[in-house]
Amino acid sequence: MCESRSADKGALVIVSGPSGVGKGSLVREVMLRDPLTRFSVSATTRAPRPGEEDGKSYYFLTNEEFLLRRAQREFLEWAEVFGNFYGTLKSEVDRLLGEGYNVILDIDTQGAASVRKLRPDAVSVFIMPPSLAELKRRIARRGTETPEVIDLRRSRAEAEMALAPEYDHIIVNDDIEIATGELMDVIAAHRAAVNSNKENAQC
Ligand code: 5GP
Repeated sequence: MCESRSADKGALVIVSGPSGVGKGSLVREVMLRDPLTRFSVSATTRAPRPGEEDGKSYYFLTNEEFLLRRAQREFLEWAEVFGNFYGTLKSEVDRLLGEGYNVILDIDTQGAASVRKLRPDAVSVFIMPPSLAELKRRIARRGTETPEVIDLRRSRAEAEMALAPEYDHIIVNDDIEIATGELMDVIAAHRAAVNSNKENAQC
């Protein structure tokens, strides 16, 4: 006979994808619809973009602050992306999982590889554009990048996309409604799997 079940555990969800794929909008859409899912706010040394709030988009740190926190082992993982440091705070992830939320980590492919090793309980999802041509159009549509920067982002995108097979799931973000539903399904299925393992372990 099994013990009576305690509250459900949350799922740890890694989301990666190339710049311009619409990852941010997708994650925001999932959080609007699923009250059980939260986003882990990372620390970064990059400057805030217009509209970004400290503590909501990122914790914006100086290089010195970041390096101090890294030395104090406050990060689950960290990486250098486009010349800036980014790191996932252990405290952020542990707090949200401890409260029973599913936790989304929006991290690059290097960070994803580190978390996969450290946290085999995590599920990983790679967000793909419908095509490279469409990705380039989406980056260009932002209107802030020069043709050189578009090409740079595109070539990094190709290198990142080559790592997609290392992820548990690949979702193509052609239609945001469909992609949102697919990501929510992955999260719900993983939460159920995590909790069925826990239940079995108690029996
Ligand atoms: P952006 O500067 O456009 O917000 O993010 C640039 C890249 O850094 C994106 O690929 C994003 O997923 C990644 N990133 C954001 N936070 C973290 C983090 O905590 N760790 C790692 N490894 N990458 C991150």
